[in-house]
Amino acid sequence: MKIRMACHLYNVALLCPTEGFVSNGSLTIRDGIIAARGAAPNPGETVIDGKGAMCLPGLINTHNHSPLMSVRGMVEDLGFAPAYTPGVPQGHWLSSEETQILARLGVMEMLCAGATTIVDYYRMPDALARAAEAFGLRAMIGGRVMDADTASLANGRFLHDPKLGEATLRAALDLIDTWDAKGNDRISTILAPHAPDTCSRQMLHTFADLSAKTGKQVHTHLAQSKMEVAQVRSREGLSPAELLEDVGLLSPDLVAAHCIFLDEADIRRIGKAGVVINHAPIGNAAFGAAAPVIALREAGAKITLCTDTKSADMFEAMRMAIAAARWRADMEFVLDAKTVFGWGTVDAARALKGHAASGTLSVGSPADLILLDPNAPNLRPVIDGYGIVVHSGSAANVTDVMVAGEWLVKDRMPTRVDMDTVIRDAQKVAENLWKRASA
Ligand SMILES: [Zn+2]
Repeated sequence: MKIRMACHLYNVALLCPTEGFVSNGSLTIRDGIIAARGAAPNPGETVIDGKGAMCLPGLINTHNHSPLMSVRGMVEDLGFAPAYTPGVPQGHWLSSEETQILARLGVMEMLCAGATTIVDYYRMPDALARAAEAFGLRAMIGGRVMDADTASLANGRFLHDPKLGEATLRAALDLIDTWDAKGNDRISTILAPHAPDTCSRQMLHTFADLSAKTGKQVHTHLAQSKMEVAQVRSREGLSPAELLEDVGLLSPDLVAAHCIFLDEADIRRIGKAGVVINHAPIGNAAFGAAAPVIALREAGAKITLCTDTKSADMFEAMRMAIAAARWRADMEFVLDAKTVFGWGTVDAARALKGHAASGTLSVGSPADLILLDPNAPNLRPVIDGYGIVVHSGSAANVTDVMVAGEWLVKDRMPTRVDMDTVIRDAQKVAENLWKRASA
């Protein structure tokens, strides 16, 4: 079903990675598409006064696991990969209903923070797809597949668990059959083997074949911990990136999160293959790391940004990406606001397959856009747009979110789902999980 409507949004400051900054602009939106920029209103169009708000393309948050909301605020000081630590609620405890309730909190937060397109993968992907469909944003959903015993992973050992592999692969393939192009064409599916240290060589091979057969990109984690690098080295005699190359996964159809612990040969290898990187600067910094994204980009990799189920604040991610890059470069100004704004919008749209977003406000693009509070002191003065948004903006500034011409957030409230219910339900589920963890 297409949403049929036409509106004229005026008195907005347009900030677009490809069209530049227009301090007093307007957009004509028809049938979910940006039909014109700077045109006069036509009869029959709903006229909306933007009241001087900054209007940006919807942000693209390229790597998340929304049910992991269950442990937010409780594990950040516990060391790396606390998801496998005793005393912490485990993902496999969650029922499908609990998964969906937590996913709704995660999706709602991302949407209200200005993400109009997200990538989300975890166990029980059907629950993730239902959560995304309820809010109406664009979502690339995957079933996370792994065939390693999770208890052994905590000790850095790989113990093959073929049953877990079969079950998670079946759920991932069922998802593709059920959900591709659903939810007004806003839901699509991805392939998502968890990581080189949690998937056997055979499983990674399976995904290389599936990608070749379906044309879908393979989303995974790569070089996210020293433990992963050590385990894959002792198991395969290769670095994690070499292993992915060996099984045929290193290509522009690989979307790899983190990419922190790489040597120079790995950086060249990943860059040459044109891999898409999900840079997660907030999560990385939280455990004291900064991925070598400038070197990866120079080698040929494409950079996108994500919040990886942390604050969902893509403005914070953009700012943190700059800080991390400059810190890695020993205070050289190797990254600027305009570039990183592109990573959060148009570059991600171009690098990822399986969605209609353009990450721009150009004519002919789907009308995926966000408005920022015109009265926010932190967004003044507005002179060139990029700098103030990236260096001073915040998810809390997002007031309205449109996807395909439909308002999904108005005055900071989701339009399709009751915010209070989502928060209350998720709080209850998380409290129960933590009670079970300490029992
Ligand atoms: Zn992840």
